[in-house]
Amino acid sequence: MAAVTAAQPRSSKTESYVDNKRKEDIRQANIKAARAVADAVRTSLGPKGMDKMISTANGEVIITNDGATILNKMEVLQPAAKMLVDLSKSQDSAAGDGTTTVVVIAGALLKQCLLLLTNGIHPTVISDSLHKASTKAVDVLTAMAVPLEISDRESLIKSASTSLNSKVVSQYSTLLAPLAVDSVLSVVDPAKPDMVDLRDIKIVKKLGGTVDDTELVKGLVFDKKASHAAGGPTRMENAKIAVIQFQISPPKTDIEQSIVVSDYTQMDRILKEERNYILGMIKKIKATGCNVLLIQKSILRDAVTDLSLHYLAKAKIMVIKDVEREDIEFITKTLNCLPIANIEHFRAEKLGHADLVEEVSLGDGKIVKVTGIKDMGRTTTVLIRGSNQLVIDEAERSLHDALCVVRCLVSKRFLIAGGGAPEIELSRQLGAWSKVLHGMEGYCVRSFAEALEVIPYTLAENAGLNPIAIVTELRNRHAQGEINAGINVRKGQITNILEENVVQPLLVSTSAITLATECVRMILKIDDIVNVRIMKWQSTAKYLLSSRILYGGFFLNFLFCLFVFFSKLCFLVNNETIHMQHAHLTIQALL
Ligand code: ADP
Ligand code: MG
Repeated sequence: MAAVTAAQPRSSKTESYVDNKRKEDIRQANIKAARAVADAVRTSLGPKGMDKMISTANGEVIITNDGATILNKMEVLQPAAKMLVDLSKSQDSAAGDGTTTVVVIAGALLKQCLLLLTNGIHPTVISDSLHKASTKAVDVLTAMAVPLEISDRESLIKSASTSLNSKVVSQYSTLLAPLAVDSVLSVVDPAKPDMVDLRDIKIVKKLGGTVDDTELVKGLVFDKKASHAAGGPTRMENAKIAVIQFQISPPKTDIEQSIVVSDYTQMDRILKEERNYILGMIKKIKATGCNVLLIQKSILRDAVTDLSLHYLAKAKIMVIKDVEREDIEFITKTLNCLPIANIEHFRAEKLGHADLVEEVSLGDGKIVKVTGIKDMGRTTTVLIRGSNQLVIDEAERSLHDALCVVRCLVSKRFLIAGGGAPEIELSRQLGAWSKVLHGMEGYCVRSFAEALEVIPYTLAENAGLNPIAIVTELRNRHAQGEINAGINVRKGQITNILEENVVQPLLVSTSAITLATECVRMILKIDDIVNVRIMKWQSTAKYLLSSRILYGGFFLNFLFCLFVFFSKLCFLVNNETIHMQHAHLTIQALL
């Protein structure tokens, strides 16, 4: 009897242990998977970081240093690891830069969390302490930041350069940084001085030349040539431009039908009708004084035919066809005109005016440039050049980061030093604060402070320096009150990083810390993974088929036959409806 009573508590203890073990295992698996993702991008942090070559399934190759792009292209399956991919995306949309930093910080925080968990601290306590620490961190960073005036072009260029320095195209930062600053400043609306919509900056990529040939165009650039059919004009001064969304081609019937014409006179009549129809349209267009037509790409029928191009060329109207639907908004905003959806609405007041529209030869292709636009909207175009597609694409991604950096500074006008200086200062101040806090909280905040050292550590490691010596020296300098001491990766030593002009927007650093903490807290709070199977009809059929083969039971056989019968029936009914619709249309057409 005594043996039985003795055995009971032991078994219940074993059960509860197993239960906890599962939760612990899931937490650990999540943390390990997420850390693996963070480790994958760690080597690309900083100006001396490595680049990644990504080869996609369809044979496309991308060379990049951008954390968000690397993670986006990775096929991550583990749900917690996917959260890190999303984290990088959120940083991309919140700040645009710091996409590697955010993931590296999250990885370091997760490593510290694992230690705290193994020391027996409850996840909720860890999570709450992390939140507290991140709020304090934002306060510390804000106190460190230097205010900036939007008219201070030099400082804006410095921060755009910092962002570009760590990219593959870093040798062109002297050209791209001022270009990014000028393009963002030119789209800022004085009515809303802290709002920048990057959709107002259009990036056009054209193969040929080098990145040095990249230029800012005050106007529009089309990566296509003008229509050369029938010797139409390819250069137009004093242009009156219409953006049209209708087709200059004979109308089509609503339903598919064929007309058999056996008589030549009838055929002539049809052609004459067509010609008159098109001529009528072109006369209306010409009457408004329009001499440049931008024609939206049409999928229903050809936007222009050989015949209409011929007449347009005769009327000395320059034609740029196949303009994408999504570009119409940008074009009309730039030209300060209205898109025209129907020939009946074609009026002179809807046209845009420009000094010059011309086709220019560039490399092995041609582009069309519209310059000297009257009352131009607040938009700008950047024409990126490069010797190969890989360079052009990376230049575009790098420019996007630089544009985002300037946008951050326009919306929150504070600068902060780079080169690991803010992180080590945060680590020092939070470490000191943790000593004031009581109990587990202080312990967790100290771990948070230690995790932040990952940034200077990685920057030094990637630059081929001794990370332990550098971080120790950095801590020492900060303890002596040099809050702007950072890693000068070029000289391989610690200097005042503000003097080196390595500055970044405050928003990038604060959003990296808050987003990383949020993500880690979310991963910490997960203690189970539940798989839900969605029963679509295909998977139902597969399931029934496999279980039929496995068990071969009568009932399952019956169920399978019933399923097949009903799905056939559904198919027939569907087909019947389609037939009915066809018949209905045919009857309508006949009537
Ligand atoms: P992210 O994708 O996170 O922006 P980067 O590869 O651009 O990653 O690296 C950003 C980090 O590199 C920041 O911490 C920044 O302070 C640091 N950094 C950038 N330029 C320099 C430089 N010239 N010297 C030292 N650190 C730099
Ligand atoms: Mg960057």
